[in-house]
Amino acid sequence: MANKRDYYEVLGVDKNASADEIKKAYRKLAVKYHPDKNPGDKAAEEKFKEAAEAYSVLSDADKKARYDQFGHAGVEGAAPDFSGGFGNLNDILNDLFGGAFGGGFGGFGGFGGGFGGGRGGHSQQRVYRGRDIRVRVKLTLEEIARGVEKEISIEKSVPCSECGGKGARNSSDIKTCPACNGSGQVQRVVNSFLGQTVTYSTCQQCGGEGKIISNPCRSCGGTGLVRKRETIKVKIPAGVEAGMQLTIQGEGHAAKNNGINGDLLVVIEEQEHKDLKREGNNLFYTKVISMPDAVLGAEVEVPCLDGAYKIKVEPGTQSGTVVRLRNKGLPTVNGYGGVGDMYVKIAVWIPKKLDREDKEIMESLRKKEAFKPNPTKEDKSFFDKLKDLF
Ligand SMILES: [Zn+2]
Ligand SMILES: [Zn+2]
Repeated sequence: MANKRDYYEVLGVDKNASADEIKKAYRKLAVKYHPDKNPGDKAAEEKFKEAAEAYSVLSDADKKARYDQFGHAGVEGAAPDFSGGFGNLNDILNDLFGGAFGGGFGGFGGFGGGFGGGRGGHSQQRVYRGRDIRVRVKLTLEEIARGVEKEISIEKSVPCSECGGKGARNSSDIKTCPACNGSGQVQRVVNSFLGQTVTYSTCQQCGGEGKIISNPCRSCGGTGLVRKRETIKVKIPAGVEAGMQLTIQGEGHAAKNNGINGDLLVVIEEQEHKDLKREGNNLFYTKVISMPDAVLGAEVEVPCLDGAYKIKVEPGTQSGTVVRLRNKGLPTVNGYGGVGDMYVKIAVWIPKKLDREDKEIMESLRKKEAFKPNPTKEDKSFFDKLKDLF
């Protein structure tokens, strides 16, 4: 125990480092000295274990406090047990990386795939990806009901036609960067208490491009890209909702070095309808009818998304009655989940201005037995239900 290194030193962090900094430092070391990445390398394995032990203490507030006060003596026996192989290290790593790798590690095999790619760039030409473009499109409910094709005008970066996106008209004007030999990255060997570490950084000479253009194309200034306004037709499926986003792959900005285009992201917005309210796939509408229509029954029109629709008002319809029109709502995107319904609430209009004759009629009705409120049990439960509707 006597020659144990200081845990902070092991992780290469300051004594006042935050939990996050400690985690980051450990993560870096864990990836670097991972047994899978350094097969047969005993020194790396020791470093890996050492870092794991340091982290197991410094990541635990309790143990850390004891360590800070009493040093190694305060946390004796706290070191992870490696006798069972690296199984428990797996746990530490799983804990560190969370669900980012989906389903944990399944051994260390998945590791190389996750991290190898990041640094791998130093041996090959960097492939750029253009930025995404986000546009908003406002649709009416009618358009949403049927689906619609919209023309969207966007300004975006496209490959320069003068130089074919290469940045220079003649390929003889494009030279391999002498500083990095075309790799775009420079290697630096640093000697530290952790041993020799090799770091890669972006080549300053060429900005990571790996090449230098001596006579840049005049139309794009050597970037290989120019701005252009384009009109793109976008098919919007029926049933979309405000906030949904459609991705049109490859219709975003072009990338340098003839890389991969970004995407066009179309964000759906909804224009408020003058009559209809939408909730999910269902539509809601309030139909105001006259008193005689409510009493005697009638046929009235309601505005549906595919035109006016006639509905029957039964004689003796109470104000607040809801009529359901099946499949008069909106479809679901892609058709699964079917078509919604339209709900029509009947409201009876009570006249406010009456002339003498009107008043006489009303007075005579007031005396009539049939006009005295006399709700049945069902009527009462219906009126109770109204409280929750609309
Ligand atoms: Zn370079
Ligand atoms: Zn050009």
